[in-house]
Amino acid sequence: MADSLGEQLRLLVERLKERQNELKRLDAGSVEARSPVELDQSRQGRLSRMDALQGQAMAMETARRRELELKKIEAALARIQDGDYGYCLRCGESIGHKRLEFDPATPLCVDCANEAGSGTRH
Ligand SMILES: [Zn+2]
Repeated sequence: MADSLGEQLRLLVERLKERQNELKRLDAGSVEARSPVELDQSRQGRLSRMDALQGQAMAMETARRRELELKKIEAALARIQDGDYGYCLRCGESIGHKRLEFDPATPLCVDCANEAGSGTRH
């Protein structure tokens, strides 16, 4: 039993690290999109400048979400190392296997996630 549990964890760690790398790669690729919009009004009309600002805001929002997800993944990896993984951070109950398979980085059991309103996914 310890073996299969170890194997399951190993697979989850792999998935978490893959996602982590993907997020980092995406983040590196979007740095340019987040650079300040240039104040060159001779070349850009008011509308295109607003477009640029809006695009920048969206890029920043995307980057913020990625950062949150990265933090969640890092926290999950730390919990795996500490042996605390798989238990709800809020109520201490073990998190369902299927839920972990679906989102290995989730820190909450399905009940707490629903209560917190942050986990409509199951
Ligand atoms: Zn819980």
